[in-house]
Amino acid sequence: MSLQVLSVASEAVPLVKTGGLADVVGALPAALDAQGVRVTTLLPGYPSVMAAAKRAKVLHSFDSLLGEPARLLSAKLNGHPLLVLDAPAYFAREGGPYGDASGKDWPDNWRRFAAFGRAAADIASGQVKGQTFDLIHAHDWQAGMALAYLRFASPKGAAIPPSVMTIHNMAFQGYFPANVFSKLGLPKKAWAFDGVESYGGVGFLKAGLEAANAITTVSPTYAREIREAEFGMGLEGLIQSRGSRVRGIVNGIDTAEWNPVTDPFIAEPFTPTTLAKRTANKRALEAEFNLDMDDGPLFIVISRLTWQKGMDVLVEVIDHLVGIGGRLALLGSGDAAIAEAMHIAAKRHPGKVSIRIGYDEALSHRMQAGGDAILVPSRFEPCGLTQLYGLAYGCVPVVARTGGLADTIIDANLAAVEAGVATGLHFTGVAFNPLSDAISRAVHLYQDRDLWTALQRGGMKADFSWSRSGAAYADLFRDLKAK
Ligand code: ADP
Repeated sequence: MSLQVLSVASEAVPLVKTGGLADVVGALPAALDAQGVRVTTLLPGYPSVMAAAKRAKVLHSFDSLLGEPARLLSAKLNGHPLLVLDAPAYFAREGGPYGDASGKDWPDNWRRFAAFGRAAADIASGQVKGQTFDLIHAHDWQAGMALAYLRFASPKGAAIPPSVMTIHNMAFQGYFPANVFSKLGLPKKAWAFDGVESYGGVGFLKAGLEAANAITTVSPTYAREIREAEFGMGLEGLIQSRGSRVRGIVNGIDTAEWNPVTDPFIAEPFTPTTLAKRTANKRALEAEFNLDMDDGPLFIVISRLTWQKGMDVLVEVIDHLVGIGGRLALLGSGDAAIAEAMHIAAKRHPGKVSIRIGYDEALSHRMQAGGDAILVPSRFEPCGLTQLYGLAYGCVPVVARTGGLADTIIDANLAAVEAGVATGLHFTGVAFNPLSDAISRAVHLYQDRDLWTALQRGGMKADFSWSRSGAAYADLFRDLKAK
Protein backbone atom coordinates (compact mmCIF):
# COMPACT_ATOMS: atom_id res chain seq x y z
CA MET A 1 0.00 0.00 0.00
CA SER A 2 1.23 3.46 -0.74
CA LEU A 3 2.46 5.73 1.99
CA GLN A 4 0.07 8.60 2.73
CA VAL A 5 1.78 11.95 3.30
CA LEU A 6 0.23 15.27 4.30
CA SER A 7 2.31 18.06 2.75
CA VAL A 8 1.67 21.37 4.52
CA ALA A 9 2.71 24.55 2.75
CA SER A 10 1.76 28.14 2.14
CA GLU A 11 2.37 28.09 -1.63
CA ALA A 12 2.03 25.68 -4.54
CA VAL A 13 2.22 26.13 -8.29
CA PRO A 14 -0.07 26.84 -10.11
CA LEU A 15 -2.33 28.31 -7.42
CA VAL A 16 -0.09 30.66 -5.46
CA LYS A 17 3.60 31.43 -5.87
CA THR A 18 6.11 33.94 -4.56
CA GLY A 19 9.22 31.80 -5.10
CA GLY A 20 10.82 28.40 -5.48
CA LEU A 21 8.86 26.94 -2.54
CA ALA A 22 5.75 26.95 -4.73
CA ASP A 23 7.50 25.10 -7.58
CA VAL A 24 8.66 22.40 -5.20
CA VAL A 25 5.39 21.93 -3.33
CA GLY A 26 3.51 21.83 -6.64
CA ALA A 27 5.86 19.23 -8.10
CA LEU A 28 6.21 16.89 -5.10
CA PRO A 29 2.89 15.01 -5.47
CA ALA A 30 3.76 13.77 -8.97
CA ALA A 31 7.41 13.18 -8.05
CA LEU A 32 6.41 11.02 -5.10
CA ASP A 33 3.52 9.31 -6.83
CA ALA A 34 6.12 7.68 -9.04
CA GLN A 35 7.70 6.32 -5.85
CA GLY A 36 4.51 4.86 -4.40
CA VAL A 37 3.94 7.79 -2.04
CA ARG A 38 0.58 9.54 -2.15
CA VAL A 39 0.86 13.21 -1.25
CA THR A 40 -2.11 15.30 -0.12
CA THR A 41 -1.28 19.01 -0.02
CA LEU A 42 -2.81 21.41 2.49
CA LEU A 43 -2.94 25.08 1.43
CA PRO A 44 -4.47 28.21 2.97
CA GLY A 45 -7.65 29.36 1.22
CA TYR A 46 -6.32 32.55 -0.35
CA PRO A 47 -8.61 33.98 -3.07
CA SER A 48 -6.57 32.31 -5.87
CA VAL A 49 -6.79 28.94 -4.12
CA MET A 50 -10.50 29.32 -3.37
CA ALA A 51 -11.13 30.10 -7.03
CA ALA A 52 -9.67 26.71 -7.90
CA ALA A 53 -11.76 25.00 -5.23
CA LYS A 54 -15.14 26.34 -6.37
CA ARG A 55 -17.08 23.10 -6.43
CA ALA A 56 -15.03 21.54 -3.66
CA LYS A 57 -16.58 19.22 -1.12
CA VAL A 58 -16.66 20.37 2.50
CA LEU A 59 -14.89 17.71 4.58
CA HIS A 60 -14.91 19.28 7.99
CA SER A 61 -15.80 22.39 9.98
CA PHE A 62 -13.57 23.90 12.63
CA ASP A 63 -15.62 25.87 15.16
CA SER A 64 -12.65 27.92 16.18
CA LEU A 65 -9.10 28.05 14.91
CA LEU A 66 -7.51 30.58 17.24
CA GLY A 67 -10.87 32.27 17.52
CA GLU A 68 -12.14 32.09 13.95
CA PRO A 69 -14.30 29.49 12.24
CA ALA A 70 -12.98 27.60 9.22
CA ARG A 71 -13.88 24.80 6.84
CA LEU A 72 -11.75 22.17 5.20
CA LEU A 73 -12.40 21.65 1.50
CA SER A 74 -11.32 18.82 -0.75
CA ALA A 75 -10.05 19.77 -4.22
CA LYS A 76 -7.29 18.92 -6.70
CA LEU A 77 -3.77 20.21 -7.25
CA ASN A 78 -2.37 19.19 -10.64
CA GLY A 79 -4.62 16.11 -10.42
CA HIS A 80 -3.48 15.19 -6.90
CA PRO A 81 -5.43 15.52 -3.65
CA LEU A 82 -5.60 19.03 -2.22
CA LEU A 83 -7.05 20.20 1.07
CA VAL A 84 -7.91 23.87 1.36
CA LEU A 85 -8.30 25.65 4.68
CA ASP A 86 -11.19 28.00 3.99
CA ALA A 87 -10.80 30.53 6.79
CA PRO A 88 -12.02 33.88 5.42
CA ALA A 89 -10.94 35.87 8.48
CA TYR A 90 -7.35 34.83 7.81
CA PHE A 91 -7.00 34.29 4.11
CA ALA A 92 -9.76 36.07 2.12
CA ARG A 93 -7.65 39.16 1.42
CA GLU A 94 -6.42 40.96 -1.64
CA GLY A 95 -2.63 41.31 -1.90
CA GLY A 96 0.02 38.64 -1.45
CA PRO A 97 -0.01 35.53 0.74
CA TYR A 98 1.97 37.27 3.48
CA GLY A 99 1.31 40.94 3.03
CA ASP A 100 -0.75 43.67 1.38
CA ALA A 101 -0.34 44.90 -2.17
CA SER A 102 2.46 47.26 -1.12
CA GLY A 103 4.41 44.29 0.28
CA LYS A 104 3.87 45.16 3.96
CA ASP A 105 3.48 42.02 6.10
CA TRP A 106 0.03 41.39 7.53
CA PRO A 107 0.23 42.24 11.24
CA ASP A 108 -1.65 39.05 12.17
CA ASN A 109 0.62 36.64 10.26
CA TRP A 110 1.37 34.84 13.51
CA ARG A 111 -2.32 34.14 14.01
CA ARG A 112 -2.95 33.24 10.35
CA PHE A 113 -0.20 30.64 10.23
CA ALA A 114 -0.72 29.38 13.76
CA ALA A 115 -4.34 28.68 12.79
CA PHE A 116 -3.09 26.98 9.64
CA GLY A 117 -0.72 24.85 11.74
CA ARG A 118 -3.45 24.02 14.23
CA ALA A 119 -5.67 22.75 11.41
CA ALA A 120 -2.79 20.78 9.87
CA ALA A 121 -2.05 19.11 13.21
CA ASP A 122 -5.70 18.07 13.59
CA ILE A 123 -5.77 16.64 10.09
CA ALA A 124 -2.46 14.79 10.50
CA SER A 125 -3.51 13.23 13.79
CA GLY A 126 -6.70 11.77 12.39
CA GLN A 127 -9.23 14.29 13.75
CA VAL A 128 -10.86 14.76 10.34
CA LYS A 129 -13.04 11.86 9.28
CA GLY A 130 -11.76 9.97 6.28
CA GLN A 131 -8.27 11.52 6.39
CA THR A 132 -5.42 9.39 7.71
CA PHE A 133 -1.74 9.99 7.16
CA ASP A 134 1.46 8.05 7.74
CA LEU A 135 3.64 11.15 7.82
CA ILE A 136 3.44 14.94 7.87
CA HIS A 137 5.81 17.03 5.73
CA ALA A 138 5.93 20.70 6.76
CA HIS A 139 7.51 23.35 4.51
CA ASP A 140 9.07 26.54 5.91
CA TRP A 141 7.97 28.66 8.86
CA GLN A 142 4.38 28.98 7.72
CA ALA A 143 3.91 25.26 8.37
CA GLY A 144 6.23 24.99 11.39
CA MET A 145 3.53 25.33 14.02
CA ALA A 146 1.78 22.22 12.71
CA LEU A 147 4.58 20.16 14.22
CA ALA A 148 4.53 22.15 17.48
CA TYR A 149 0.79 21.58 17.90
CA LEU A 150 1.24 17.87 17.19
CA ARG A 151 4.01 17.70 19.75
CA PHE A 152 2.49 19.77 22.54
CA ALA A 153 -1.24 19.93 21.98
CA SER A 154 -2.60 16.79 20.36
CA PRO A 155 -5.82 15.34 21.75
CA LYS A 156 -5.25 12.50 24.23
CA GLY A 157 -4.77 9.17 22.53
CA ALA A 158 -4.34 10.69 19.05
CA ALA A 159 -1.90 8.89 16.78
CA ILE A 160 0.92 11.31 15.99
CA PRO A 161 2.61 10.53 12.68
CA PRO A 162 6.34 11.02 12.13
CA SER A 163 7.29 14.39 10.72
CA VAL A 164 9.71 16.04 8.32
CA MET A 165 10.44 19.77 8.30
CA THR A 166 11.93 21.14 5.10
CA ILE A 167 13.79 24.44 5.13
CA HIS A 168 13.50 26.20 1.79
CA ASN A 169 15.14 29.36 3.11
CA MET A 170 16.60 29.85 6.58
CA ALA A 171 16.32 33.63 6.20
CA PHE A 172 12.57 33.46 6.77
CA GLN A 173 11.88 32.17 10.27
CA GLY A 174 8.44 33.46 11.26
CA TYR A 175 9.70 35.21 14.38
CA PHE A 176 7.10 37.00 16.53
CA PRO A 177 7.08 38.82 19.88
CA ALA A 178 6.76 36.83 23.10
CA ASN A 179 3.28 38.14 23.85
CA VAL A 180 1.74 36.04 21.08
CA PHE A 181 2.64 32.87 22.96
CA SER A 182 -0.29 33.06 25.36
CA LYS A 183 -2.69 33.26 22.42
CA LEU A 184 -1.41 30.18 20.61
CA GLY A 185 -3.27 27.68 22.79
CA LEU A 186 -0.13 25.79 23.71
CA PRO A 187 0.69 24.46 27.20
CA LYS A 188 3.24 26.39 29.26
CA LYS A 189 5.90 23.73 28.76
CA ALA A 190 6.05 24.64 25.06
CA TRP A 191 7.72 27.91 26.10
CA ALA A 192 11.18 26.37 26.30
CA PHE A 193 14.47 26.80 24.53
CA ASP A 194 13.91 23.43 22.85
CA GLY A 195 10.25 24.29 22.24
CA VAL A 196 8.75 27.30 20.49
CA GLU A 197 10.77 30.00 22.25
CA SER A 198 13.40 31.65 20.07
CA TYR A 199 15.63 34.53 21.22
CA GLY A 200 12.96 35.76 23.60
CA GLY A 201 10.12 35.55 21.09
CA VAL A 202 8.22 32.80 19.31
CA GLY A 203 9.90 31.20 16.30
CA PHE A 204 7.59 29.25 14.02
CA LEU A 205 10.37 27.67 11.95
CA LYS A 206 12.32 26.94 15.08
CA ALA A 207 9.29 25.31 16.70
CA GLY A 208 8.94 23.03 13.70
CA LEU A 209 12.64 22.17 13.61
CA GLU A 210 12.62 21.23 17.30
CA ALA A 211 9.59 19.00 16.87
CA ALA A 212 10.47 17.30 13.57
CA ASN A 213 11.72 13.73 13.41
CA ALA A 214 13.85 14.67 10.44
CA ILE A 215 14.96 17.95 8.89
CA THR A 216 15.75 18.48 5.26
CA THR A 217 16.89 21.40 3.26
CA VAL A 218 17.08 21.76 -0.47
CA SER A 219 20.75 21.05 -1.19
CA PRO A 220 23.60 19.22 0.55
CA THR A 221 25.85 22.28 0.55
CA TYR A 222 23.16 24.45 2.16
CA ALA A 223 22.62 21.67 4.74
CA ARG A 224 26.28 22.13 5.70
CA GLU A 225 26.25 25.92 5.44
CA ILE A 226 23.36 26.39 7.89
CA ARG A 227 25.54 24.91 10.61
CA GLU A 228 27.52 28.16 10.43
CA ALA A 229 26.45 31.54 11.82
CA GLU A 230 26.71 33.20 8.40
CA PHE A 231 23.95 31.02 6.95
CA GLY A 232 22.19 29.63 10.03
CA MET A 233 20.76 33.06 10.87
CA GLY A 234 20.68 32.32 14.58
CA LEU A 235 19.51 28.71 14.29
CA GLU A 236 22.96 27.26 13.53
CA GLY A 237 23.24 25.85 17.06
CA LEU A 238 19.96 24.02 16.69
CA ILE A 239 21.02 22.63 13.31
CA GLN A 240 24.33 21.47 14.77
CA SER A 241 22.60 19.83 17.69
CA ARG A 242 20.28 17.92 15.37
CA GLY A 243 23.23 17.15 13.10
CA SER A 244 22.56 13.65 11.91
CA ARG A 245 18.91 14.35 11.30
CA VAL A 246 19.60 17.19 8.85
CA ARG A 247 20.10 16.29 5.23
CA GLY A 248 20.02 18.03 1.86
CA ILE A 249 17.89 16.90 -1.08
CA VAL A 250 18.30 19.01 -4.20
CA ASN A 251 15.09 20.27 -5.81
CA GLY A 252 14.11 18.90 -9.16
CA ILE A 253 12.40 20.87 -11.91
CA ASP A 254 9.15 20.20 -13.66
CA THR A 255 10.44 18.93 -16.99
CA ALA A 256 6.98 19.07 -18.57
CA GLU A 257 6.73 22.78 -17.91
CA TRP A 258 10.39 23.58 -18.53
CA ASN A 259 11.15 21.86 -21.80
CA PRO A 260 12.54 23.81 -24.79
CA VAL A 261 11.10 21.24 -27.20
CA THR A 262 7.48 21.73 -26.14
CA ASP A 263 7.47 25.15 -24.43
CA PRO A 264 4.42 27.06 -25.73
CA PHE A 265 5.86 30.42 -24.65
CA ILE A 266 8.96 30.46 -26.86
CA ALA A 267 9.38 31.53 -30.49
CA GLU A 268 11.32 28.51 -31.73
CA PRO A 269 11.66 25.10 -30.06
CA PHE A 270 15.13 23.56 -29.94
CA THR A 271 17.10 20.55 -28.72
CA PRO A 272 20.77 20.04 -27.77
CA THR A 273 21.47 19.18 -31.39
CA THR A 274 19.57 22.11 -32.91
CA LEU A 275 21.03 24.89 -30.78
CA ALA A 276 21.27 27.18 -33.82
CA LYS A 277 17.51 27.57 -33.53
CA ARG A 278 18.03 29.45 -30.27
CA THR A 279 18.98 32.45 -32.40
CA ALA A 280 15.32 33.04 -33.26
CA ASN A 281 14.57 33.16 -29.55
CA LYS A 282 17.47 35.53 -28.96
CA ARG A 283 16.23 37.90 -31.67
CA ALA A 284 12.70 37.76 -30.26
CA LEU A 285 14.02 38.54 -26.79
CA GLU A 286 16.13 41.45 -28.03
CA ALA A 287 13.05 42.84 -29.74
CA GLU A 288 10.90 42.36 -26.66
CA PHE A 289 13.45 44.16 -24.47
CA ASN A 290 14.34 46.85 -27.04
CA LEU A 291 17.94 45.70 -27.05
CA ASP A 292 20.38 46.09 -29.96
CA MET A 293 20.43 42.99 -32.11
CA ASP A 294 23.85 41.45 -32.28
CA ASP A 295 25.65 38.20 -31.76
CA GLY A 296 27.52 39.24 -28.63
CA PRO A 297 26.63 37.59 -25.33
CA LEU A 298 23.22 38.40 -23.91
CA PHE A 299 23.08 37.96 -20.13
CA ILE A 300 19.78 37.50 -18.38
CA VAL A 301 18.65 37.77 -14.75
CA ILE A 302 15.32 36.49 -13.38
CA SER A 303 15.20 37.19 -9.70
CA ARG A 304 13.72 38.71 -6.63
CA LEU A 305 15.47 42.07 -6.34
CA THR A 306 16.99 41.57 -2.92
CA TRP A 307 20.24 41.58 -1.01
CA GLN A 308 20.13 37.76 -0.79
CA LYS A 309 20.19 37.57 -4.57
CA GLY A 310 23.17 39.95 -4.80
CA MET A 311 21.18 42.38 -6.91
CA ASP A 312 22.88 45.39 -5.30
CA VAL A 313 26.24 44.07 -6.56
CA LEU A 314 24.79 43.36 -9.98
CA VAL A 315 23.88 47.06 -10.28
CA GLU A 316 27.52 47.94 -9.61
CA VAL A 317 28.91 45.69 -12.36
CA ILE A 318 26.54 46.75 -15.14
CA ASP A 319 28.97 49.31 -16.59
CA HIS A 320 31.68 46.66 -16.71
CA LEU A 321 29.35 44.13 -18.35
CA VAL A 322 28.47 46.59 -21.11
CA GLY A 323 32.06 47.82 -21.38
CA ILE A 324 33.28 44.38 -22.41
CA GLY A 325 30.57 43.83 -25.01
CA GLY A 326 27.79 42.21 -22.98
CA ARG A 327 24.12 43.11 -22.89
CA LEU A 328 21.67 42.51 -20.06
CA ALA A 329 17.94 41.74 -19.88
CA LEU A 330 16.56 41.63 -16.36
CA LEU A 331 13.17 40.57 -14.99
CA GLY A 332 12.57 41.04 -11.30
CA SER A 333 10.54 42.44 -8.50
CA GLY A 334 11.26 43.34 -4.92
CA ASP A 335 13.32 46.08 -3.32
CA ALA A 336 12.25 49.47 -4.73
CA ALA A 337 15.70 51.05 -4.25
CA ILE A 338 17.37 48.26 -6.23
CA ALA A 339 14.75 48.56 -8.98
CA GLU A 340 15.37 52.31 -9.17
CA ALA A 341 19.14 51.76 -9.41
CA MET A 342 18.55 49.23 -12.21
CA HIS A 343 16.38 51.76 -14.06
CA ILE A 344 19.11 54.37 -13.84
CA ALA A 345 21.70 51.88 -15.16
CA ALA A 346 19.40 50.91 -18.02
CA LYS A 347 18.97 54.59 -18.97
CA ARG A 348 22.75 54.94 -19.11
CA HIS A 349 22.99 52.06 -21.59
CA PRO A 350 20.11 52.22 -24.07
CA GLY A 351 20.06 49.18 -26.34
CA LYS A 352 22.47 47.36 -24.02
CA VAL A 353 20.63 47.06 -20.72
CA SER A 354 16.90 46.69 -20.34
CA ILE A 355 14.79 45.80 -17.34
CA ARG A 356 11.24 44.71 -16.58
CA ILE A 357 9.98 45.16 -13.08
CA GLY A 358 7.23 42.69 -12.26
CA TYR A 359 6.47 39.02 -12.21
CA ASP A 360 5.96 37.31 -15.57
CA GLU A 361 6.16 33.54 -15.86
CA ALA A 362 5.87 33.41 -19.68
CA LEU A 363 8.57 36.05 -20.13
CA SER A 364 10.86 34.09 -17.81
CA HIS A 365 10.60 31.14 -20.23
CA ARG A 366 11.37 33.35 -23.23
CA MET A 367 14.41 34.75 -21.44
CA GLN A 368 15.84 31.31 -20.67
CA ALA A 369 15.32 30.34 -24.32
CA GLY A 370 16.88 33.47 -25.80
CA GLY A 371 19.59 34.45 -23.32
CA ASP A 372 23.16 33.19 -23.62
CA ALA A 373 23.99 33.15 -19.91
CA ILE A 374 21.99 33.55 -16.71
CA LEU A 375 23.61 35.42 -13.84
CA VAL A 376 22.85 34.18 -10.31
CA PRO A 377 25.02 36.18 -7.87
CA SER A 378 23.26 35.04 -4.68
CA ARG A 379 24.91 35.67 -1.31
CA PHE A 380 23.22 32.48 -0.17
CA GLU A 381 21.02 30.12 -2.13
CA PRO A 382 19.35 27.11 -0.49
CA CYS A 383 18.86 25.44 -3.89
CA GLY A 384 17.89 27.91 -6.60
CA LEU A 385 15.76 27.01 -9.57
CA THR A 386 16.60 29.61 -12.19
CA GLN A 387 20.04 28.09 -12.78
CA LEU A 388 18.37 24.69 -13.33
CA TYR A 389 15.97 26.19 -15.88
CA GLY A 390 19.03 27.80 -17.48
CA LEU A 391 20.68 24.37 -17.78
CA ALA A 392 17.58 22.89 -19.40
CA TYR A 393 17.43 25.74 -21.94
CA GLY A 394 21.09 26.03 -22.91
CA CYS A 395 21.35 29.38 -21.10
CA VAL A 396 24.69 28.91 -19.35
CA PRO A 397 24.53 29.62 -15.59
CA VAL A 398 27.13 31.96 -14.10
CA VAL A 399 26.68 31.42 -10.37
CA ALA A 400 28.07 32.27 -6.97
CA ARG A 401 29.65 29.19 -5.41
CA THR A 402 27.16 28.73 -2.57
CA GLY A 403 24.37 26.36 -1.49
CA GLY A 404 22.48 24.66 -4.28
CA LEU A 405 24.28 26.70 -6.92
CA ALA A 406 27.54 24.99 -5.97
CA ASP A 407 25.81 21.59 -5.99
CA THR A 408 24.10 21.86 -9.37
CA ILE A 409 26.55 23.69 -11.65
CA ILE A 410 29.92 22.30 -12.68
CA ASP A 411 32.45 25.07 -13.24
CA ALA A 412 34.21 25.24 -16.60
CA ASN A 413 37.68 24.80 -15.13
CA LEU A 414 40.29 23.14 -17.31
CA ALA A 415 39.78 19.66 -15.89
CA ALA A 416 35.99 19.80 -16.24
CA VAL A 417 36.19 21.17 -19.78
CA GLU A 418 38.74 18.50 -20.66
CA ALA A 419 36.45 15.80 -19.25
CA GLY A 420 33.45 17.31 -21.05
CA VAL A 421 31.38 17.70 -17.88
CA ALA A 422 31.33 21.48 -17.36
CA THR A 423 27.92 23.15 -17.34
CA GLY A 424 28.54 26.73 -16.23
CA LEU A 425 30.80 29.15 -14.36
CA HIS A 426 31.38 29.60 -10.63
CA PHE A 427 32.73 32.59 -8.77
CA THR A 428 33.53 32.93 -5.10
CA GLY A 429 32.26 35.82 -3.02
CA VAL A 430 29.51 38.22 -4.02
CA ALA A 431 31.32 41.51 -4.54
CA PHE A 432 32.35 43.75 -7.43
CA ASN A 433 35.63 41.98 -8.31
CA PRO A 434 34.53 38.33 -8.31
CA LEU A 435 31.32 39.08 -10.19
CA SER A 436 32.91 41.32 -12.80
CA ASP A 437 35.73 38.77 -13.26
CA ALA A 438 33.13 36.02 -13.78
CA ILE A 439 31.34 38.13 -16.38
CA SER A 440 34.66 38.77 -18.17
CA ARG A 441 35.35 35.06 -18.10
CA ALA A 442 31.93 34.29 -19.56
CA VAL A 443 32.41 36.84 -22.35
CA HIS A 444 35.80 35.33 -23.10
CA LEU A 445 34.54 31.72 -23.14
CA TYR A 446 31.58 32.75 -25.27
CA GLN A 447 33.99 33.68 -28.07
CA ASP A 448 35.07 30.03 -28.27
CA ARG A 449 31.98 28.75 -30.01
CA ASP A 450 32.81 25.05 -29.65
CA LEU A 451 33.49 25.35 -25.97
CA TRP A 452 30.33 27.39 -25.36
CA THR A 453 28.23 24.88 -27.29
CA ALA A 454 29.75 22.09 -25.19
CA LEU A 455 28.75 23.96 -22.04
CA GLN A 456 25.20 24.38 -23.34
CA ARG A 457 24.91 20.73 -24.32
CA GLY A 458 26.41 19.57 -21.02
CA GLY A 459 23.78 21.57 -19.17
CA MET A 460 20.90 20.34 -21.30
CA LYS A 461 21.98 16.75 -20.70
CA ALA A 462 22.16 17.17 -16.92
CA ASP A 463 19.23 15.41 -15.26
CA PHE A 464 17.48 17.64 -12.76
CA SER A 465 14.10 16.01 -13.17
CA TRP A 466 12.38 14.97 -9.98
CA SER A 467 13.17 11.26 -10.32
CA ARG A 468 16.29 11.25 -8.15
CA SER A 469 15.05 13.73 -5.56
CA GLY A 470 11.61 12.13 -5.40
CA ALA A 471 13.29 8.82 -4.61
CA ALA A 472 15.38 10.48 -1.89
CA TYR A 473 12.27 11.92 -0.19
CA ALA A 474 10.48 8.58 -0.51
CA ASP A 475 13.42 6.75 1.12
CA LEU A 476 13.45 9.21 3.99
CA PHE A 477 9.68 8.94 4.49
CA ARG A 478 9.82 5.14 4.49
CA ASP A 479 12.70 5.09 6.98
CA LEU A 480 10.77 7.32 9.37
CA LYS A 481 7.59 5.30 9.02
CA ALA A 482 9.49 2.08 9.73
CA LYS A 483 11.03 3.43 12.94
P1 ADP B 1 13.62 32.06 -4.57
O1 ADP B 1 12.61 31.01 -4.24
O2 ADP B 1 14.60 32.32 -3.49
O3 ADP B 1 13.02 33.34 -5.09
P2 ADP B 1 14.44 30.22 -6.69
O4 ADP B 1 15.47 30.35 -7.76
O5 ADP B 1 14.45 28.99 -5.88
O6 ADP B 1 14.53 31.53 -5.79
O7 ADP B 1 13.00 30.30 -7.35
C1 ADP B 1 12.52 31.46 -7.97
C2 ADP B 1 11.37 31.06 -8.87
O8 ADP B 1 10.61 32.22 -9.17
C3 ADP B 1 11.82 30.51 -10.20
O9 ADP B 1 10.81 29.66 -10.69
C4 ADP B 1 11.92 31.79 -11.07
O10 ADP B 1 11.83 31.51 -12.44
C5 ADP B 1 10.75 32.56 -10.56
N1 ADP B 1 10.86 34.02 -10.63
C6 ADP B 1 11.57 34.84 -9.82
N2 ADP B 1 11.35 36.12 -10.14
C7 ADP B 1 10.50 36.11 -11.19
C8 ADP B 1 9.88 37.14 -11.98
N3 ADP B 1 10.09 38.43 -11.72
N4 ADP B 1 9.04 36.76 -12.96
C9 ADP B 1 8.82 35.44 -13.22
N5 ADP B 1 9.36 34.44 -12.50
C10 ADP B 1 10.19 34.77 -11.50
